[in-house]
Amino acid sequence: MAEIIQNEAGSFHNYLSEGCKLCKIGAKMVLFVTGICGRDCFYCPISEDRKNDLIFANERRVTSDEDVIAEAHQMDALGTGITGGEPLLEIGRVVHYIRLLKSEFGTEHHIHLYTSIAPDKEMFMALADAGLDEIRFHPPQEMWNCLEQTPFAESIKIALELGMSAGIEIPSIEGAKEVLPLLDAVGGFLNLNELEFSDTNADEMHLRGFELVDDMSNAVADSRACAQKLAVSSSKVHFCSSRYKDAVQLRKRLLRIANKTARAFDGITDDGTIVVGVIESIDNDTALGVLREMEVPDDMFEIKGGIIEIAWWILEDIAQELKNAGGTLSIIERYPFEGGLVVETMSI
Ligand code: SF4
Repeated sequence: MAEIIQNEAGSFHNYLSEGCKLCKIGAKMVLFVTGICGRDCFYCPISEDRKNDLIFANERRVTSDEDVIAEAHQMDALGTGITGGEPLLEIGRVVHYIRLLKSEFGTEHHIHLYTSIAPDKEMFMALADAGLDEIRFHPPQEMWNCLEQTPFAESIKIALELGMSAGIEIPSIEGAKEVLPLLDAVGGFLNLNELEFSDTNADEMHLRGFELVDDMSNAVADSRACAQKLAVSSSKVHFCSSRYKDAVQLRKRLLRIANKTARAFDGITDDGTIVVGVIESIDNDTALGVLREMEVPDDMFEIKGGIIEIAWWILEDIAQELKNAGGTLSIIERYPFEGGLVVETMSI
């Protein structure tokens, strides 16, 4: 049996699909192609505001192809994971985005799809023709113990025959091991996600007796232990922890964006946020007069509408002069893109 490798934040694996390898370094864009889904999984984590026919590239609302391309460029994406809702309810959209991304970033831009539907041959031909690289099936829980008698068995085989990487991605709960015989027979992988409480599934989860692992986390007690038991009896298992998704993947994605887009005067933190000084309340000409007088180099600040952003360490040095001129000064830490979430503001 392959060795089990422990990753950051409680994740582990003895096999990683190509899509997971890219996700692990924060290089996968998440393309949510619709919030509509015909299933009713009790653990569904989708928030109420996403359960609509909306498209998002990471957190960016998509209204045009340009939005998708801009988001992928911004994070220097090496691949894309297509998800939902149920993406294949909008197969035309899925095929369109696969083609769009492959034509913009090359065939090496790795694309995986997550679906709770078992596509038929015709759907597969369209997906394969567009260039889909990897597919992860999410069969409903009631099928896990009889998977070989469901259309998913045939679908996995077709995917593999077409040269795609294929596996099953389900939450790590009792019963997950039932999918192993089929996967072992065809050579598919198993991705187990740590089961998590969310605003939308909490009632159903409590009804079924699930409990939080502790007060600091949304993860369900015993979900990780369930995956640990399973990983010793199969050689293609990857367990993705709730903390890994939140902390590691997001941080690495933000770092990629920050390293690509930061200006000379932006400080980049280990979390991928940027730290920058802000001058407000005085007109730009007055502020500029002070900056010139203090010999601040032009590449150490930027005028943005009614405010000036400036290297935070320079702002600290010349704070008194700017305050004397009527400026209101602060140092902010924010996500590294235009309009990014401000996580901390410190007045100086
Ligand atoms: S298949 Fe996915 S999106 Fe649909 S209900 Fe289940 S968990 Fe939610």
